[in-house]
Amino acid sequence: MEWMEQELAALADKALERQLRDSAPIAGRPGFIIRDGQELLDLSSNDYLGLAQHPAIIEAMRTALAADGAGSGASRLVTGNRPPYRKLEQALASWQGTDAALVAANGYMANTGVISALVGRGDAVFSDRLNHASIVDGITLSRADHARYRHNDLEHLRHLLDKHRGARRKLIVTDTIFSMDGDQALLPELVALKEQYGAMLMVDEAHSGGIYGTRGEGLCHALGIQNDIDVHMGTFSKAFGVYGAYVSGSRTLIRWLINKARPFIYSTALPPAVVAGISQALQLVQTEHGRRQRLLAAGLKFRSALQDAGFQVGEGNSPIVPVIIGDNGLALAFSAALQASGIAAVAIRPPTVPEGTARIRFSLSAAHSDDALQDAARHIRSLGIEMGVLKQ
Ligand SMILES: *Cc1c(COP(=O)(O)O)cnc(C)c1O
Repeated sequence: MEWMEQELAALADKALERQLRDSAPIAGRPGFIIRDGQELLDLSSNDYLGLAQHPAIIEAMRTALAADGAGSGASRLVTGNRPPYRKLEQALASWQGTDAALVAANGYMANTGVISALVGRGDAVFSDRLNHASIVDGITLSRADHARYRHNDLEHLRHLLDKHRGARRKLIVTDTIFSMDGDQALLPELVALKEQYGAMLMVDEAHSGGIYGTRGEGLCHALGIQNDIDVHMGTFSKAFGVYGAYVSGSRTLIRWLINKARPFIYSTALPPAVVAGISQALQLVQTEHGRRQRLLAAGLKFRSALQDAGFQVGEGNSPIVPVIIGDNGLALAFSAALQASGIAAVAIRPPTVPEGTARIRFSLSAAHSDDALQDAARHIRSLGIEMGVLKQ
């Protein structure tokens, strides 16, 4: 196993070794965490609506835990299909305006399971280069040809669609909001291309579910193209503040996945208490419009504050605000300096993002007050100057 020590040392040399650090929530103070004994404004989590500590969700989970026990005991096709699932999947389908929906253990398993169930050898998947790792892994697992197109580059996508014209089945797959950049996919254009080339279109709303759409349905609803999407997936681990994921679409799609999605078939059902927590979160997501509006307004304000300060900030209007640093070591040092001044914001480095684009990824939450965010933006600016990230 010596090779492992050597490769880890090489990673550490390039400021690329990853390490686990404890971050504890603070009861009654959503939007903050404790790390290394210090209270920090949490600009790293994906708890966009600030629901992770919502009393109604905690109570729903507590009640279900007492009634249904800790674990579900088996996969859903065996005896793990507890009553709360049917209720939740009906509510999900009605929320998304689709015929059916299926709950998955998490977003990673939803993506790997769905993609490997939809395509196989002789098929082609067209995937934005910045799509989430779980999409990339799903394509690898499927054994279909992986045609990666340059980020949001429709000409490149068209070229690849032409090149793979002979593929048996074609699948275009995209994040709706890109997780490390915070910008949007060109969804109406993707719909036009999938129709022209006879491809299926799958979207991952992990970072847009709960945030866009009048009832938090996601970006596709906000754009009015939800009926043009063949496979819609989203997670309950981000804006919903809980855990798990869903796929929605036609009844045929869901029947197919129940029969073919291996992570669904061969893995134990989520604990009933988690399913109950998701159901409660879904009700809140549909009705807590104020949180959505506060979050989007805060995103715009924070983004322009950093832009005005002179940082290289990613495009978009989402609550994900990346500040591009470039160098891995500098990004790490900047993150450490932010922590010293009371802000938790992680440095994102390759291979999560392309080489030379290490960044600090700020993600906002409806739990943050306007004052806290304005303060944070000022701190970030002065640290940027101090550390030479910002030229004066
Ligand atoms: C977080 C994320 C996932 C994975 O979801 P989990 O529920 O955390 O496994 C999938 N896709 C995207 C775009 C994500 O950001």
